[in-house]
Amino acid sequence: MGRIFALLLLPLLLFGGSVKPFKWNNGESLLTFLERKKLPLSIYYNLDKDDQKLTEDIPYSANCQMVLDNKNLIRQILIPVNDELQLQIYRTPKKRYAMQVVPIVSEQYTETLYVPIQTLPYDDILKATGSKNLASEFVKMFKGKVNFRKGFQKGDPIILVYTQKYRLGKPFSMPEVHGAMVEINGKQVTVYRHTDGRFYDAKGGQYEKFLFKIPIRNPRITSKFTKSRYHPVLHRYRAHLGVDFGARPGTPILATGDGRVSFAGSSHGYGNTIKIRHSNGLTSLYAHQKSFKKGIHNGSKIKQGDIIGYVGSSGLSSGPHLHFGMYDGSTAINPLSVMKKTTEGFSGKERKAFIAIRNKMDRIFKKALQSKPIRKPYLNFHETYYVDSETFKPKPF
Ligand SMILES: [Zn+2]
Repeated sequence: MGRIFALLLLPLLLFGGSVKPFKWNNGESLLTFLERKKLPLSIYYNLDKDDQKLTEDIPYSANCQMVLDNKNLIRQILIPVNDELQLQIYRTPKKRYAMQVVPIVSEQYTETLYVPIQTLPYDDILKATGSKNLASEFVKMFKGKVNFRKGFQKGDPIILVYTQKYRLGKPFSMPEVHGAMVEINGKQVTVYRHTDGRFYDAKGGQYEKFLFKIPIRNPRITSKFTKSRYHPVLHRYRAHLGVDFGARPGTPILATGDGRVSFAGSSHGYGNTIKIRHSNGLTSLYAHQKSFKKGIHNGSKIKQGDIIGYVGSSGLSSGPHLHFGMYDGSTAINPLSVMKKTTEGFSGKERKAFIAIRNKMDRIFKKALQSKPIRKPYLNFHETYYVDSETFKPKPF
């Protein structure tokens, strides 16, 4: 750990270099990027398979940084692949370049926001926090349940409990909302995030409609989704931005939902890959295919359950399996968090867990309502991750 951060900080501290922020171009691969920057391609080929695959998930518009020394030579480049891991390209003391996967230095704070409605919730939340992401999360959560365009009165309260990550003192990545409440015509409407990552009403009924299905018959999961995990044997950080299903070569792959093919082609890491864009803005990805079903091409209209291709081992794959990914914009999310649930309502342990979450949120809502309405969030409690001197504490609001 110490070594990693020493490397991150070294150029800034010792060489007085300049920092150039830039955004990752849409459609750029790490190889084309290295070529453009006249960096050796070997730093890509020296990565192991998993890290090579990871580079295909760099989200477009990712906020990257380049550190130049006083002779304008690249000392370091940081490229985030998600909100937890980043690729670090750096010059070694022997004046060679190397690359590794390191955690993103960030802090996270859980905050409670209490805003009286003045115009529209989206605008009011945006005004109070400056976060478009938080405002749109809120609107998404109550979609179809509350009509904010009519029925509410000025001063009706909105309460949001959420965790926001901060990097270099600025919010980054999507906030995670744990619960929200609105009062409309004196009636409280609440939403809670359960441990499965989905939103439910007070009775445990689902707020969101999930229409996706597992893309393979008789699924057998061989690798789960993880944004960042320290590998104790390899001593490295890993991510797996999808779910792997083990299956015999040639097993049919089924579309997880209705949509349109937005990509059907091949990549170095994922091999034969199909992406399907769905009407709710999510995109599903099916990698390492042996072959596509005849007639599947860019723009093909797809129905849920249609066969789109066959399980294989193309690309950087250690054996036949389907790598199944799900993306919200260019951000990888856990595909299983948006799969259709077969059981209705909670029971047993799950019910207990949900009730605990609901009670905790209700206490926070109540406490916030008893306080003076504030237009700004206040810090509820905070947790700190990976703090080093590169990270500034965000100012309390
Ligand atoms: Zn995989």
